Amino acid sequence: MDVLNKNKLETENLVDELVSANKLLLAQNAALAHENKELGVIASIFNSQEGMAIVDASLNIVRVNKAFTEITGYSAEEAIGMTPKLLSSGKHDKVFYARMWQSLNNEGRWEGEIWNRRKNGEIYPQYLSIAVVYHAAGHVANYVSTLTDISKGKAAADKISNLAFYDPLTQLPNRRLFLDRLGHELVANNRDVRRGALLFIDLDHFKNLNDTLGHMVGDLLLQQVAARLMLSVRKTDTVARLSGDEFFIFLANLSDNEIECAKRAKELADKMIGLFDTAFLLNEHSYRITASMGVTLFNGDETSIDMVLKQADIAMYQAKAKGRNTVCFFENRMQDDITRYVKLERELTTAIALGQFELFYQVQVDDKQKPFGAEALIRWNHPELGLVSPGYFIEMAEETGLIVPIGQWVLEAACEQLKAWEAIPKMRSLTLAVNISSKQFHQDDFVTHIKHIVKQYGIHPALLKLELTETAFSKNIESLISSMTALKGIGIQFELDDFGTGYSSLQYLKRLPLEQLKIDQSFVREIEYNENDKQIVRTIISMTQNLDLKVIAEGVETENQKQILLDSGCQRFQGYLFGKPLPIAEFEESILNSIA
Ligand code: C2E
Ligand code: MG
Ligand code: MG
Repeated sequence: MDVLNKNKLETENLVDELVSANKLLLAQNAALAHENKELGVIASIFNSQEGMAIVDASLNIVRVNKAFTEITGYSAEEAIGMTPKLLSSGKHDKVFYARMWQSLNNEGRWEGEIWNRRKNGEIYPQYLSIAVVYHAAGHVANYVSTLTDISKGKAAADKISNLAFYDPLTQLPNRRLFLDRLGHELVANNRDVRRGALLFIDLDHFKNLNDTLGHMVGDLLLQQVAARLMLSVRKTDTVARLSGDEFFIFLANLSDNEIECAKRAKELADKMIGLFDTAFLLNEHSYRITASMGVTLFNGDETSIDMVLKQADIAMYQAKAKGRNTVCFFENRMQDDITRYVKLERELTTAIALGQFELFYQVQVDDKQKPFGAEALIRWNHPELGLVSPGYFIEMAEETGLIVPIGQWVLEAACEQLKAWEAIPKMRSLTLAVNISSKQFHQDDFVTHIKHIVKQYGIHPALLKLELTETAFSKNIESLISSMTALKGIGIQFELDDFGTGYSSLQYLKRLPLEQLKIDQSFVREIEYNENDKQIVRTIISMTQNLDLKVIAEGVETENQKQILLDSGCQRFQGYLFGKPLPIAEFEESILNSIA
């Protein structure tokens, strides 16, 4: 919003500056023209820097000065006897000349900017002042024209405006001009309800090109993309480059019917995507690149510039999320998702500050159904929603990084609990498994932090188990191994959660200092009916035996499932069959009351 306003303000200031510079130029010329008005001083002025021509009542040039020849390229011999049409550029319409004649006839003078043509064909702007000289009887005797070449000043002004409004690399309108036009378009749309669309095009992995072939080649590509886009839009559309590899196109006046407008926008967007089917020739390299596009339609119902830009942006990111090389249309649902996301993020931040989290404990048992440990599972005591499961907020906590303070809280709460269990004979040997997200584990100070907590609470490190998922392997495996090894060194155990759903390679499994694998509940769920799942579970179990790892099955709900797992060689279990995740008081009660 601020940026948009700033841009708008800058644009307005710049336009003001250009207008006043131009006014100054006009005023100077007008003053000169005024001085030249008196016919009595013609003789002396005729040698002035300004071009002068005297035209008789029948519109024939009768005299010109040296400056006239310099400016127009016509010598006195060539000009005299001709009409001023000799200089006409053809750039002005009949109305322009009608107004000029009206002023000459009524006021005896005319002055203003006019485009003329030099003898060499060049069209140039000049400031022209014409004064009518009358005979004593009141008839027109002559027209005295004073002309000043203003092409230099004009070119400088044009250059300034070019730099201010156009992208020097692609010659496309820049952000300032684009936003200005878009603003006008939205206002115009307000008036006559013809709908338009805004297209946001972002090249896919453009950075790769810059990184591999260099920025010069990257620039070449941007120029060629700009040229292709320019050639494929209608005259009324505006293509602009707002920054880097981000292009915007606004398609004005598509249709006054919403569906038709969406259809036309889709056709045009598909056409734009198609422009990337052909490889680009960048020096000697033939280079292929795709683009992701976001489209939003506008119809002028109080839509602001930043709103349509934001919508196109959201739609473009949706296209990226869908795997790139595609077009996505903005839908209100996306906006709703984002609003919900932002609200959740805010609430989660408050939850951390106010300590609205709680740990639930789910028992883990051995083949004799004797509890040997528990898994700590987080719950959020939401002020309005009540008890909320991690499925609702963990993913977003990971995306925003809030998982780091949340995970820290979980670890401290778990250690505090382990310490408290030391005082209860039936609880003191229970292990406690804590889920650690990948982002949390890859924090630089994770190892130090764990060591610190273990010391602070004075717990027995072998009772703390850290559950990682295979997503932790997706980056920097070497640093993962060294952190795990360091923590294993002080006695902490590691277990691999949700095993079978990710992409662990045997290679990793051998290298990671793991103690246990946890078979994902998706395999356990159908183990009774699905032969395939049964085979997978058996393979996992025999693999753990070969790798000298322990194995536990999660999500065990029925006796039958437990029996199949037991028959396959699994001796540790977790699931509703043995106990649901419970608040601490209920969990302790269930353990204290267990017979085993
Ligand atoms: P997970 O670590 O695989 O935890 C097992 C999930 O399965 C838990 O869901 C548990 O309540 C549920 N479950 C246990 N037994 C059964 C059963 O017999 N049948 C069925 N259908 N489900 C069962 P929950 O508590 O909703 O946790 C979901 C996921 O959230 C966890 O999956 C874990 O990935 C994550 N999570 C939970 N607490 C934390 C935490 O403190 N930190 C992090 N980073 N993630 C956590
Ligand atoms: Mg887990
Ligand atoms: Mg799991």
